[in-house]
Amino acid sequence: MSQRINILPESLTNKIAAGEVVERPASVIKELIENSLDAGATDICVEISAGGRRRIRVTDNGHGMSREDALLSLERHATSKIAADSDLDKILTLGFRGEALPSIASVSRFTLATRETAAPEGTEIIVEGGRIREVRACGMASGTVVSVEQIFYNLPARLKFMKSAETETGHVADIVSRMAVSRPDVAFLCSSDDRELLRLQRSDLQRRLAQVLGREGSQYLYPVVSEGGYATITGFVSGPALVRSGTQAIYTYINGRFIRDRVVQHSIMQAYRGVIDRGRYPVVALFIELSPEEVDVNVHPTKHEVRFRRQPVVHDAIQEAVEEVLRRSPWLADKAAKLGTPHVSTGQASRERVAAAAQSSLSLLPSQVHPFLQTEANVVDPAALLTQPEHNTIVSEPNTNFRQDQSPEETGGYFSSLSIIGQFHNEYILCQSGSELVVIDQHAASERVAYQLLKQQCLDGVIESQRLLFPATVELSFSEVAVANRFSNDLSGIGFELEPFGGTTIMVSSVPRLVAEKDPILLVRDILADLLRYGTSAAFNDALESLLSRIACHSVIRGIHALDNRQIKALLYRMDRTDFAASCPHGRPVSHVVTLAELQKIFKRT
Ligand code: ADP
Ligand code: MG
Repeated sequence: MSQRINILPESLTNKIAAGEVVERPASVIKELIENSLDAGATDICVEISAGGRRRIRVTDNGHGMSREDALLSLERHATSKIAADSDLDKILTLGFRGEALPSIASVSRFTLATRETAAPEGTEIIVEGGRIREVRACGMASGTVVSVEQIFYNLPARLKFMKSAETETGHVADIVSRMAVSRPDVAFLCSSDDRELLRLQRSDLQRRLAQVLGREGSQYLYPVVSEGGYATITGFVSGPALVRSGTQAIYTYINGRFIRDRVVQHSIMQAYRGVIDRGRYPVVALFIELSPEEVDVNVHPTKHEVRFRRQPVVHDAIQEAVEEVLRRSPWLADKAAKLGTPHVSTGQASRERVAAAAQSSLSLLPSQVHPFLQTEANVVDPAALLTQPEHNTIVSEPNTNFRQDQSPEETGGYFSSLSIIGQFHNEYILCQSGSELVVIDQHAASERVAYQLLKQQCLDGVIESQRLLFPATVELSFSEVAVANRFSNDLSGIGFELEPFGGTTIMVSSVPRLVAEKDPILLVRDILADLLRYGTSAAFNDALESLLSRIACHSVIRGIHALDNRQIKALLYRMDRTDFAASCPHGRPVSHVVTLAELQKIFKRT
């Protein structure tokens, strides 16, 4: 029997960024998979039931633990991964704080079963709310099985903030996907209520990405290889034909660890300036390898954020590596190859590229791939329709006759059938239909499209919500706090997660996805003010319509705004798919028709 685990001395634990690692089933699974990977597993199986609320089980074929270690592993700050202060500077394992197992065991009914390969039998430890209930020998394959049942059973407040089983399952699948992308050499299996979500054989990164992103998308990915002195950057990035309306398909890893880092994200988006529209985000899987002394992973309890010793150097290295690929516009070559025409003129290729990009962002229905992948590749974010076109320097649309490149899929409704004349005052879209001049208020129209989308999601039972990378705190009045508390469940149903943060402050940790890029504080204030106005006697449902329209209103850019033809076309297309009562939710008209006769009258031609 071996002993690997030690309890860290207090002098060292004080240096560790401590904090809550157990937030929801997905965060438990992240910690358990990290442990399995650190234990050298090559097969990891994740099973959940009821979104992880009823049960989570992670099974691995890693090196397992002796009975002594298994008992120690449940103590706080017990880890086999670091021992001395100096180890903090060279962390190569995913874990190092010795906190995950005890934290998880303290908020659930927890069972750890583990067996070292050489040991004749395994050890099973049953823990309830942090108390060891039973320790016994058990027969099992070598490796480790951790079962977490009834998470938060002893923390009703936490339980309240759990989302529907579907939402939690989505988060679980996201986490498993992210970790699976980081280790294509490890096989992953993930199932939910006996339904298989992911089955990933050991393979290479390209195949793994295709499995996770779907083959469809993966053909628009291009390899990045940059082996500089300071950082080695490898992976895949998408061209303009594969974009999302949020950052969730940006997978970035530092030394194998999935991270969400502002610097890294910024460097990537810098590289994409002019390649994709603002408000759009690429699909990226980027691995940044640095000497461990160059990066501090010990800054955040969930280890999602890191600190670089030489931040600007890392930033520029990433930007250059990605730019290097994008500058070559490999997607143009792709098109040419597919068409079998070696001499595609830039104009034509670029038109096709733009059309392809528009196409991929125009189809309305989420793809039928994995449920958790009904992400943004195929869903238009109406808020993104009104994005600044000035930055489209590289992908500038050639001056073509607009009607020519309309593909049949994009036609079919009244608004799509209009021929676009242009934009007036950056506020109105002018179109022609036979002998009629159609004037569309672009802001009212986008708002209506957003409103309709929200309403549909609401009817379907979920308004897509997005966790804020940086939760915001809002100071409120007493009556606003009361309203926020009273309706917290209802508000979470429409995508807002608000948590008490002491006194009259609340923390906004999630908002409806449509407004994820907008100022959450302004919106939350508006929403609470609306709810107050409806009075405490009103049921939430009475206020619902006006709340949705408030969210819709925040989701679009207001005022004057230049749009290019593609954006206009996308808006018209969306309008056709919107149940239009010809008014924006505020009751303002969306479009107005001026007939030829009316114009002739003005010009006294009759
Ligand atoms: P950390 O990963 O930060 O060390 P944890 O609480 O997650 O802390 O785990 C504590 C210790 O338990 C680990 O250091 C490791 O030695 C052991 N351990 C946890 N999970 C496994 C596993 N799946 N296989 C083998 N050992 C494990
Ligand atoms: Mg761990």
